[in-house]
Amino acid sequence: MTPAQPPQGHAVIIGAGHAGGTLAALLRQYGHLGPITLVGGEDLPPYQRPPLSKAWLQQAMDPDDLLLRPASAYADQAIVLRLGMRAMAIEPGSRQVALNDGSALHYDHLVIATGAAPRWLALPGGERPGVTYLRTLDDAQALRGHLQTARRLAIIGGGYVGLEVASTARKLGVQVRVIEREGRLLTRSASPQIAAHLQRLHAGQGVDFHFNASVASIQGDGPASITGLAMADGTHLQCDAVLIGVGAAPSVELAQSLGLDCAGGIAVDGEGRTALPGIYAIGDATRRPLAGHTGLHRLESVPSALEQARRAACAITGRALPAPETPWFWSDQYDSKLQIAGLPGRGDQTVLRGDPTSGRFAVLHLQGGVLCAAECVNSPGEFMAARKAIAANY
Ligand SMILES: Cc1cc2nc3c(=O)[nH]c(=O)nc-3n(C[C@H](O)[C@H](O)[C@H](O)COP(=O)(O)OP(=O)(O)OC[C@H]3O[C@@H](n4cnc5c(N)ncnc54)[C@H](O)[C@@H]3O)c2cc1C
Repeated sequence: MTPAQPPQGHAVIIGAGHAGGTLAALLRQYGHLGPITLVGGEDLPPYQRPPLSKAWLQQAMDPDDLLLRPASAYADQAIVLRLGMRAMAIEPGSRQVALNDGSALHYDHLVIATGAAPRWLALPGGERPGVTYLRTLDDAQALRGHLQTARRLAIIGGGYVGLEVASTARKLGVQVRVIEREGRLLTRSASPQIAAHLQRLHAGQGVDFHFNASVASIQGDGPASITGLAMADGTHLQCDAVLIGVGAAPSVELAQSLGLDCAGGIAVDGEGRTALPGIYAIGDATRRPLAGHTGLHRLESVPSALEQARRAACAITGRALPAPETPWFWSDQYDSKLQIAGLPGRGDQTVLRGDPTSGRFAVLHLQGGVLCAAECVNSPGEFMAARKAIAANY
């Protein structure tokens, strides 16, 4: 559908992350003629987070190398950046967003792209300087500082971020132990076969795993030091730095204050519309419908943020919508590239293709004999084919 008039009006985007930054650029690309303002709580223009646990953590790079697009591109496209600035409140009646410097922005289209924040673990000793979470460039800078001096890193949480940091830390020569509350890695996001492969991979690089284990406190000699973890079972594990990676919670406070449904993420439709007129939400903060699935799903991945940005930009500018994408995700650990198409864990049958001990294999998930997800290790061809095949089944 082509709009009769070029789209106008002030588009205000709250959150200058992957989703918000991409949406701003797409609005211009799709012909939005009105002003665009991108409000970001961090000081940097939109940047990529995936390298923060991988290449960027391993070796010093210029923060500019992380940017989604050069800082000058925003001025070139008449996108106003309000960085280091937080949106504090939304007034839907007068269509105003209040910022923390006391100013307010009037909007015609508002997009909430506030992302997610690390889940906080209330642990005695959690305030010690060698304890980090990992979401922002500042967090990554702090963690990199610790990895330069630490000999033993304890990672609380065996999720993707924790495992990627484990891989980077081992490459830097730091000893690593991973403490996981569940009986295996990635219980919510990967099949037992993939979890077993990653565990083998890390164990082969000298990583110690502690399953069904929980930490009671982080201990040290003085307030600034870390000597180890006191475990709930009474044992003590030595370490001198700690990463807490126990997942991320959607940042929904603004949406919640509007009375929107925010249980497990801001509820939106396939184009990012919330229940309030003119207000959209995209990215890690949201829960959205997925083709071929019932209910709403919160995905935390760059491809999902990009797809939501694309679809919301189409809706705002009145452009025809692209076909829905098969959700996908990747994770790099050592020389292993894991690529996942679809949502694993929803099928009723799995088929193993290839030999996990060779480091190249795929786990296919079928529902009623039809492919619904694939987890592919160092198998880009299988991954591409699976993505296409799953999309064809929608
Ligand atoms: C270490 C790490 C590694 C990752 N690796 C991968 C990977 O390998 N593959 C993959 O697919 N995904 C990966 N991800 C996930 C991916 O980065 C996220 O899915 C993606 O960044 C989501 O984009 P977003 O814009 O929704 O949220 P974010 O990128 O979190 O951006 C949200 C922004 O909104 C800002 N904000 C929040 N509230 C306000 C407010 N009130 N006012 C103003 N600004 C506000 C925040 O400060 C933040 O800058 C990784 C994430 C991390 C942290």
